[in-house]
Amino acid sequence: MNSTPAVSLAALKTPYYLLDEAAIVANMQIIARLCELSGAKALLALKCFATWGVFDVMEPYLHGTTSSSLNEVRLGYETFGNNNADNNNSVNNQDKKETHAYSVAYSADEIDEVLSYADKIIFNSISQLNAFKGQAAAKNIPVGLRLNPKTSNSSFIIADPARPFSRLGEHDKDKIAAVLGDITGVMIHNNCENDSFEAFSASLADIEARFGDVLAQLEWVSLGGGIHFIAPDYPLEKLADRLKGFSEKYGVQVYLEPGEASIHGAGSLVTTVLDTMHNEKNLAVVDASIEAHMLDLLIYRESAPIASINGEFMAIAPVNKDQVNDVIDNTIIYGRSCLAGDIFGEYVLPSNLQIGDRIAFGNAAGYTMVKKNWFNGVNMPAIVIRRLDGSIDIQREFDYQDYKASLS
Ligand SMILES: *Cc1c(COP(=O)(O)O)cnc(C)c1O
Repeated sequence: MNSTPAVSLAALKTPYYLLDEAAIVANMQIIARLCELSGAKALLALKCFATWGVFDVMEPYLHGTTSSSLNEVRLGYETFGNNNADNNNSVNNQDKKETHAYSVAYSADEIDEVLSYADKIIFNSISQLNAFKGQAAAKNIPVGLRLNPKTSNSSFIIADPARPFSRLGEHDKDKIAAVLGDITGVMIHNNCENDSFEAFSASLADIEARFGDVLAQLEWVSLGGGIHFIAPDYPLEKLADRLKGFSEKYGVQVYLEPGEASIHGAGSLVTTVLDTMHNEKNLAVVDASIEAHMLDLLIYRESAPIASINGEFMAIAPVNKDQVNDVIDNTIIYGRSCLAGDIFGEYVLPSNLQIGDRIAFGNAAGYTMVKKNWFNGVNMPAIVIRRLDGSIDIQREFDYQDYKASLS
């Protein structure tokens, strides 16, 4: 970490991801309150956000991390909480963080290493459970199984764990009942940015109807992530009551695995306009790329909100793609990769963009840094952190050597 005093954001070279610790802590406080009211435990889903340079401010509020691979479970073990003996002399067992391991499919040669980091391991299928339960038992690691309730709250088929012919978890109750002796818990993840408490509650009721007698024989149930309870108008108390009632009814410890909810609104991608053009509409090209730096915009065909222009806070929602197609004053902001559709969004701006203008795109903390890539060899955004005390740390910069080292 090269922490230089009095770094000014305006002087920083773009592009960079800017993480705001105060905004993360605001989300953390909501999560901690939900846990306090409901008795649930919250684990950060590393697949959404794994920028460990801010874990210090998250640890006091969360119970640990969950993972989708060997690398993630190791990162959670090494960087989140008291596991790392190097930077922690006074390990207080009460504060010890949990490290959950899950993967769609483990390979036989990695399972022992996974188990060396894990406090619990969740297998995706009964065949994986059968293949590796002996190794878990030998190390006294509690074992879980992913269930697939065949219903979900996801508006995108590509992100729908309950899509037809899904491989994500077991759905057959008889088969699950037959392995109950091998597991102490289950994980169910079937929400995606679901901001409706009613929809969440109804789908939990579905799960109860389908698997109620299985749940009653377990010690813990993880309900996964994807619940958008950090929205300002979300009925947090109702959710807490629902989770508490669920936990009491079946006698289970409930876990939640918030990814996006942990860091929503806490990051932006700051870019500079490199060129402007005109082709029926105003065009601008910035020094970053959605394909390389905000890949989900491409996958889900969405646009980025603008958070600020030239440092001035200015929340500008993108123009809805189906609504206004013929407004020639609109500005389309493009990425600098050669992908024709590398588009941050189309906007109605207060004035035309100029070369050198700084545009910060919002919603750039989750599913961005974990997916960034070197397509087109485009400069990798630095990772910059605004600390709780307002100081700015350039946490990590990337250069040609990093690009070169990513290939060979
Ligand atoms: C993706 C995922 C999460 C996190 O989901 P968010 O929508 O980011 O909250 C949690 N658990 C599992 C199993 C996941 O696959």
